[in-house]
Amino acid sequence: MIISTITEAIGSTPLYRFTAKDYPMPKNSAIYAKLEYMNPGGSIKDRLGEYLINTGFANGNIDHETTIIEPTAGNTGIGIALAAQQFHLKTIFVVPEKFSIEKQQLMKALGAEIIHTPSELGIKGAIEKSKSLAKEIRNSYLPLQFENSDNPAAYYHTLGPELWDELGNNLHSFVAGIGSGGTFAGTSAYLKEQNENIRLIGVEPEGSILNGGLPGSHKIEGIGVEFIPPFLSGLTIDHFETVSDEEGFSYTRQLAEKQGLLVGSSSGAAFAAALKEVQLVPDGHSVVTIFPDAADRYLSKNIYL
Ligand code: PMP
Repeated sequence: MIISTITEAIGSTPLYRFTAKDYPMPKNSAIYAKLEYMNPGGSIKDRLGEYLINTGFANGNIDHETTIIEPTAGNTGIGIALAAQQFHLKTIFVVPEKFSIEKQQLMKALGAEIIHTPSELGIKGAIEKSKSLAKEIRNSYLPLQFENSDNPAAYYHTLGPELWDELGNNLHSFVAGIGSGGTFAGTSAYLKEQNENIRLIGVEPEGSILNGGLPGSHKIEGIGVEFIPPFLSGLTIDHFETVSDEEGFSYTRQLAEKQGLLVGSSSGAAFAAALKEVQLVPDGHSVVTIFPDAADRYLSKNIYL
């Protein structure tokens, strides 16, 4: 594959197949994991970054002088920065302090400015700060991934069709972590249109509210919500699986040790939920899940120690 802009390398990621030889599951069943960490910016959010910048230009929200501002835990920032860089656009990301330093360095490497908000204000604090910056800075564009329907649309148009092309009627359950909810909602909507019998399983860490729990801190990064993402309305979701930090990190380590899959903790959590789902559905069913990003952006948090 010869390319001349890095964004051309986004998408068409490998689909890894696990069988009963690898992990406990009925003998004819399989779990497939989409290796989204193999995108050029290292995460599933490259798809969103490219989509937001392209639609921003198409809708007239962005021109060549626009400053892009966004609250982000990191991966969305990296994805937006990668796409924005192709057009020499300025980017400012508002990041709660607690998030990984590696992601912040990657955003900076791509030319972004980082503004911190206090960890205790959570992502809500970052959203407020971004909104006030957008009012101050002339010709700025705030995509606001948590509210913007372009977020699920990015996955409806890319990840959903890729999975359907790869698995088609051999896809029985879709299991994915929920942060902004864009990946889960957009991919689910596309898959349900192809086959309404596909089961939908959302994954959250303990400390997230989707199963009625109280908001609290968790070490698994990238998933978990303090409010119900608006994108989930209209979807029939079969189940939310709540995964503890301990279980999520245990699978994150196992995936490296056994399969050489150097993934982040939201992948470990998604895999924990996929292993439960594959036991619940009939033998011969296939469960597909997403491994959103890579381990190396969490090494400062000692994820393997
Ligand atoms: N995993 C990781 C590592 C992420 O950064 C994100 C995005 N915050 C997700 C999962 C969840 O994706 P979404 O925001 O589309 O729900």
